[in-house]
Amino acid sequence: MLFMEFSRYCEQLEGISGRLEMIDTVSRVLPSLTDEELPIFVRFIMGRVFPDWSPLKLGIGPNLLYDAVAYVAGARKGAVREAINTLGDVGLAVEGLLATKEQQSFFIEELDLVEVYRDFERMAVAGGHRSQRGKLLVARKLFGNARPLEGRYLARLMLEELRIGMGEGNVRDAIAKAFGVDVALVEHAHQAAGDLGEVALVARKGPDALQEVEIEVFRPVKMMLAQQGTIAERIEEYGDVAVEYKYDGSRFQFHRKGDECRIYSRRLEDVTVGLPDIARHLMAATDRDIILDGEAIAVKDGRPMPFQYVIRRFRRKHQVDAMMEEIMLVPRVFDILYLDGETLIDRPLSERRRILEEVLADHVAPQVRTHDAAAAEEIYARALDQGHEGVMVKVLESRYLPGIRGRQWVKVKPGVDTLDLAVIGAEWGEGRRTGVFGSFLLACRDEAGRLLPVGKVATGLSDEMLAEVHALLKDLVIAGSGKEVTFEPQVVFEVGYAEIQTSPNYSSGYALRFPRFVRLRVDKGVDEVETLDGIRDRYARQKNGAGSSP
Ligand code: ATP
Repeated sequence: MLFMEFSRYCEQLEGISGRLEMIDTVSRVLPSLTDEELPIFVRFIMGRVFPDWSPLKLGIGPNLLYDAVAYVAGARKGAVREAINTLGDVGLAVEGLLATKEQQSFFIEELDLVEVYRDFERMAVAGGHRSQRGKLLVARKLFGNARPLEGRYLARLMLEELRIGMGEGNVRDAIAKAFGVDVALVEHAHQAAGDLGEVALVARKGPDALQEVEIEVFRPVKMMLAQQGTIAERIEEYGDVAVEYKYDGSRFQFHRKGDECRIYSRRLEDVTVGLPDIARHLMAATDRDIILDGEAIAVKDGRPMPFQYVIRRFRRKHQVDAMMEEIMLVPRVFDILYLDGETLIDRPLSERRRILEEVLADHVAPQVRTHDAAAAEEIYARALDQGHEGVMVKVLESRYLPGIRGRQWVKVKPGVDTLDLAVIGAEWGEGRRTGVFGSFLLACRDEAGRLLPVGKVATGLSDEMLAEVHALLKDLVIAGSGKEVTFEPQVVFEVGYAEIQTSPNYSSGYALRFPRFVRLRVDKGVDEVETLDGIRDRYARQKNGAGSSP
């Protein structure tokens, strides 16, 4: 498939608003693709280049992209920024810039879908200190051969945000329709394989092949997530439930095969190097080929230390020993996904738990089964007393649902509600904050993945935290005028607030009253920030008197 054809499909999809029509359009394309093209097309159409679990990351920042486009279009980098500012979209800006140069260039090579993917692979593996230069050369070549419409989607793909509204659900349904297989089977394979590109290939072979897809060691599985809720409602609905402490650490997934092990973060990054103590503890606790899910916590004098201590270790690549003297981490394992060749995610929690207790000699997080709300409340009080965040209440019959934030796991914690929001802009600080960003523009996301502002936060950041945040954000500036800058959205803040108000000032329609920085969520991506629906929901609950307190 030519990249031009792919671009035309994208343009077509961008013009469709109905879900069923989108699914239908994609399903008609899939059968015509070769085995090589199919997984690439499927990922690209979702704005992804590699599977989520792949160690390959494109790592193209906006600056590099602007450099490449400026070079090819014969424009200043400032002109690229201006075009983006004016049009509000990188893709459209690149398209416009390439259109102006197009009349002059006759020697372009036709871009091919698979070849574009190979170039992305080259960029992702380009290592060492010359890697930025290597990436830039490949990016220049790609834009040099791109026609304007291709430029639109090439630029968006490089930033892995296609903006055409094809999420995982739609693509899964399109695969099922294209190859005449049950959606549930496609979903099963997706949960085990963690990549719809590969699943599309299997779906082409038929339902039996889909059924046989298993989890593989050293290919991290997306983590199951939790909703907020209360103990009473869970017990009322399900009777017997499992209650565990909610540890305030950082999520990890441990994989072992033979004598080798690897540990992955919540964002599926390989963090083994930073966590030798976790690896040692778990290697000693079992000799089976295994995948475990748990929380790493830091403990000092028997009490848990704050989350920031733990997260620093997850980001550490060097001098881990010195840090280990300061902070020792211990694992609290609460789930098992795989054992000796067998995928366990389709089994109920009660059974997974039994297996976990059988095969792991140590570090299993305690769990209590009860249908007595008072007993569960007692555990909750004890959890808080011991310095944990609260409790998790889990449905015993529930399967493990990778990447799903469902009602099967409910988190119960006290106090002020917080929101995870994307940092999309900032204002330069004044006075003591001169030279660093001082206030930050925050955004939630809507159904189409667009980021919509909901407020600014300037309080709650220590000088040390301001410096840390500044270091993260300074390379993400994509535009700036006067005191204000706009960021490539990559950083997530957790913020508290007194109240959510409706507001004509922000395109989300809402604003936070008294927003306050709580912590930096380096363990979360911007695709995980609060949704507009979630904010609407909180606003409604608040009006009914069940909102957060200042
Ligand atoms: P929060 O912001 O409340 O920490 P989150 O958005 O990081 O939540 P959630 O899925 O909402 O993630 O809450 C579940 C998280 O709680 C898990 O990702 C995990 O890191 C942590 N956790 C701590 N203890 C447990 C436990 N016993 N079972 C499951 N998750 C646990």
